[in-house]
Amino acid sequence: EQEQLHSLKGKKSVTMDGKEINIYANIGRPEDVEAVLRNDAEGIGLFRSEFLYLGRETYPTEEEQFQAYRSVAENMQGKQVIIRTLDIGADKQADYFEMPKEANPAMGCRAIRICLTRQDIFKTQLRALYRASAFGNIAIMFPMIISVGEVRAIKQIIHAVQLELSGEGAAYNPETKLGIMVETPAAALISDELAKEVDFFSIGTNDLTQYTLAIDRQNPSLEHFYDAHHKAVLTLIRITAENAHKNGIFVGICGELGADLSLTETFLRMGIDELSVSAPCVLPLRKKVMETRMDR
Ligand code: PEP
Ligand code: MG
Repeated sequence: EQEQLHSLKGKKSVTMDGKEINIYANIGRPEDVEAVLRNDAEGIGLFRSEFLYLGRETYPTEEEQFQAYRSVAENMQGKQVIIRTLDIGADKQADYFEMPKEANPAMGCRAIRICLTRQDIFKTQLRALYRASAFGNIAIMFPMIISVGEVRAIKQIIHAVQLELSGEGAAYNPETKLGIMVETPAAALISDELAKEVDFFSIGTNDLTQYTLAIDRQNPSLEHFYDAHHKAVLTLIRITAENAHKNGIFVGICGELGADLSLTETFLRMGIDELSVSAPCVLPLRKKVMETRMDR
């Protein structure tokens, strides 16, 4: 079994009838790249940047962030690395942010909402990301998007950051791909409009399920009601994939559901271009893809 999986390293993730998909991996720290390479993922589909901000007393500096992003980009040797900007709030808290207490944090000031409110923090991260873009194949993605206006506001801030960097003579890749997480029902439902603003979508099924079913993903007593295969969630995924392709952009899945082998064929049929899963799931998923055929 292990040997059989081992033999899939270096192979393409392609179905029996020739449909190819990219299998990427999710990481939470620069050290995780080793497991990504060992399991032969074709890229990193979600690099959660929260590790830089959590479990400490002060904001991470631009330099600290730059070193972390650069090391991952370099170690991935030209393979795509999709880095997600800060997603704290809700379950993940950092006291030094001094955010007001909220009665309903999952629906509160989290992720992009913090970044658009506290633009100094956001700019520091974007400067670090753009500087690192000179050292590998980096793409940047934004969490918890619900509107076109947010995406336009982000692009204005990016424009300012690029002008600053250019003025300083700092190297960066101005063609860096920009994407959004589709993890709210709002984003899925307006994905036709959002697709015109960005280079790619990555569907976050963990939050998409939470917000679609109105079930707190942290509450174990609701497990019985938490149906990961709920038709409403699968429908939002299908709509998102259709709108991505209609507008010529690629669409991946980076939530837990991407690793659910009972849905692999469904996702392939929807035309999902990339599945990003934890490193140990990469080769079993490739095996599943290679055993699938869709022409019958
Ligand atoms: C998701 O919501 O599916 C996701 C991938 O992001 P996170 O689990 O970090 O919220
Ligand atoms: Mg999420």
